[in-house]
Amino acid sequence: MKDLIIIGAGPIGLYAGFCAGLRKLDGMIIESSYETGGQLALYAEKDILDVPGFANIKAKDLGDALFKQYQTHQKDVDIHIGEDVLEIQKKVDHFEIITNKNKYLSKKVLIANGGGKFSPKQVEGLEADNVYYHIDDVGRFRNQDIAVLGGGDSAVDWAIALLNEAKSVTLIHRRKEFRAHQSSLEEFIKRGGKILADHVVWEYVSNGKNITSLKLMCNEDHCERALKVDAVCIFFGLTKTKVDYAPWQIAFDQKGILVNQEMESSIKGIYAVGNAASYNGKQDMLTSGFGEVVTAIGAINFALHPEQKVPKYSSLMNK
Ligand SMILES: Cc1cc2nc3c(=O)[nH]c(=O)nc-3n(C[C@H](O)[C@H](O)[C@H](O)COP(=O)(O)OP(=O)(O)OC[C@H]3O[C@@H](n4cnc5c(N)ncnc54)[C@H](O)[C@@H]3O)c2cc1C
Repeated sequence: MKDLIIIGAGPIGLYAGFCAGLRKLDGMIIESSYETGGQLALYAEKDILDVPGFANIKAKDLGDALFKQYQTHQKDVDIHIGEDVLEIQKKVDHFEIITNKNKYLSKKVLIANGGGKFSPKQVEGLEADNVYYHIDDVGRFRNQDIAVLGGGDSAVDWAIALLNEAKSVTLIHRRKEFRAHQSSLEEFIKRGGKILADHVVWEYVSNGKNITSLKLMCNEDHCERALKVDAVCIFFGLTKTKVDYAPWQIAFDQKGILVNQEMESSIKGIYAVGNAASYNGKQDMLTSGFGEVVTAIGAINFALHPEQKVPKYSSLMNK
């Protein structure tokens, strides 16, 4: 049984994972999407001006930094991505967390789900066994001709990763300009990747199971071309679905889960932080969320180990 299960690996869940590890709690983070960083992925290139210590930091860089910081305690708090928490059941002295894949037991639960779930934007009508919205094993694409659709960092980063295994990788984007970093695009081209910018997929040929070729059209001159494919990988960003808390039997209002000063919900042992939490004066901001994590993890640690004298400052905790 875990000491603590954290639901969500957005910025606040990642920071909670780090703080729990720092206090030597035996924990786990469960994240429904295949990426960490939550909403930061929605505005990856936006400048954030109000995180203490940074005059200006891009959302993507903050997400990377939070993940790196979390990794320093990943041995204490492991992470399960692509796993959706469906139910939290209260037992006498612990909780059962039921996901779409498994069941876990934990003494405490920290909800950092941001009030919603992220999932990849799907393309209506483009359905086949060889269409992928996330990649868990690049090796499966060995010696294949791959089309990657999208113009952001995820699309280009995965296109580069696929070059390690695939026979060919063609990156297709409907605009002339990519949102991805220029340096990543340059690396993709240098390593033999092909780019079809300003092109849209307007039709595809299927053998009933798999897509065998894409029909593409150039927006500018309406020129058409066919591209033979073994797989199509689509990275069009993420969409958010709001969580319905009613079946969880937890008190909530229109902003989120109602919590007390220790970030504990109406159910003893279940805490909420970040955009998931609601209280008077609540601001849905990163810094408020980070502060809430410190309060919640401190309260959880005290509830689990009231006898322990845990130092307050991190410089003493790691000794
Ligand atoms: C466009 C935009 C700009 C912003 N700019 C700023 C800014 O400049 N400064 C600032 O302070 N704040 C800003 N914010 C707000 C900030 O991004 C949020 O406050 C922050 O992301 C909240 O973090 P979180 O971890 O609580 O939730 P989220 O970032 O929403 O992450 C929650 C995570 O939980 C996962 N999850 C949800 N349900 C489940 C489930 N059932 N099982 C498992 N996992 C689940 C989700 O997939 C997600 O990864 C901005 C927000 C937006 C949309």
